[in-house]
Amino acid sequence: MTRSIRPLVAGNWKMNGLKADLAISAEVAKGYDSELKASVDLAICPPASLLYVASAALVGSRIATGGQDCSPQASGAFTGEISAAMLADAGASFVIVGHSERRTLHGETSTLVKAKAQAAQKALLVPIVCVGETRDEREAGKALAVVKKQLRGSVPEGSGAATLVVAYEPVWAIGTGLTPTVADVADMHEAIRAELGRLLGKAAASGVRLLYGGSVKPSNAAELMSVAHVDGALVGGASLKAEEFLAIARACA
Ligand code: PEP
Repeated sequence: MTRSIRPLVAGNWKMNGLKADLAISAEVAKGYDSELKASVDLAICPPASLLYVASAALVGSRIATGGQDCSPQASGAFTGEISAAMLADAGASFVIVGHSERRTLHGETSTLVKAKAQAAQKALLVPIVCVGETRDEREAGKALAVVKKQLRGSVPEGSGAATLVVAYEPVWAIGTGLTPTVADVADMHEAIRAELGRLLGKAAASGVRLLYGGSVKPSNAAELMSVAHVDGALVGGASLKAEEFLAIARACA
């Protein structure tokens, strides 16, 4: 944790969730008690189909919502796409961009991710820019270099603490139950903070929230969150269980 930074725990529901699953966000809101509210921010990123109704239901809860992707375009003939302004209009405050599932399954490049992050900022959303190495890249000793390159390509110039969140998500840790060692997370987050310093200036970079994501669970959250420069978590699978998501939040608090 970085003492001066208020942590954020964001849940990425991915392509999961029907109307009935709004019971999960309602339960999270119920468990987000005054003690948690005092020390950790929460965000839930449901599928786009649920965003408006989830956001409306969470008004007054102090739980933010976010999209899982956005178009780099503002509007127009882009069938199937959703703009950042549409997400904001539906109540979102955040949008995940450059998730490894988008980079891998949809061939998204860092150039595109940066354009999406810029579109998000223009719509006054905070992009959660995801970066992370594959297993092969880590085994080849290239993890730090890969992540720094992704950052250089994906982070908009001029970003700062109020307009950017970065999530380090090793691809091989997502949904696998595997996590890097605490030492590896510490090295990576320190390197990310330093690279952001070079890109954005030290003062701006010092307040940017750096989330760790990849198989975060109640059982490992406290250890992961105790690492320097880990300012919260991006949570996939465990965010679909209110009790687990809240337990992770408590580990951050
Ligand atoms: C994710 O998809 O962003 C993620 C971190 O997933 P999981 O927590 O399931 O590994």
